[in-house]
Amino acid sequence: MQTTIDDWPSSSDDDIVPVAESVDLSIECLVQSVLDWMAAQRYFTKNEVESLKRVEIGLLRRNATQKHGVCRYHRDTDVNSPALGPRDVKCIDIHPGLLTEKWWNYGQKVLYHEFLHALGHFSHNSDFRRLEDAWDGPDKECGRLFTEVMRRANASWLWICDGCHKEFPRRKRGRGKFRCRDCNIVLRDVAVSN
Ligand SMILES: [Zn+2]
Ligand SMILES: [Zn+2]
Repeated sequence: MQTTIDDWPSSSDDDIVPVAESVDLSIECLVQSVLDWMAAQRYFTKNEVESLKRVEIGLLRRNATQKHGVCRYHRDTDVNSPALGPRDVKCIDIHPGLLTEKWWNYGQKVLYHEFLHALGHFSHNSDFRRLEDAWDGPDKECGRLFTEVMRRANASWLWICDGCHKEFPRRKRGRGKFRCRDCNIVLRDVAVSN
């Protein structure tokens, strides 16, 4: 008997899975996604969103841990001037670790935060907070987690508590100068093997 194609195990469309589209995790894509969102909000004028397109966006050093984004104004900028705006901005730098699938949503929030500074909201006052909270995204806990992950990635030492076994990744040795807040036990230095 001859084998025909009909004898092969049957397949259906359900067995076909599309190859995942490669995700664009570029800084341009991050910028575009935040500006698109801002353009759809009533808090921002078209001009404001347009003017942000001219702001130069760069990257912080990879070994930054506490700082996730920064808006740098030109030297001698009067940050208290009511005219403070994107023209006064030298650049916005964000952490390169945010350009990853895992941290993308947090990265959008960080960039949005810096855009608010660029629009002339210099201090984190109540106006700033109100605008910032309009972004319905990851909360402060996410920022703390990112700091922790970056610290771990850059750590040469772990300060370890022998009470609760918590680890505190740090660049330098603790040299017996720090205690665990919970256990009051002096933290022990362990070198990280990279
Ligand atoms: Zn800020
Ligand atoms: Zn402890």
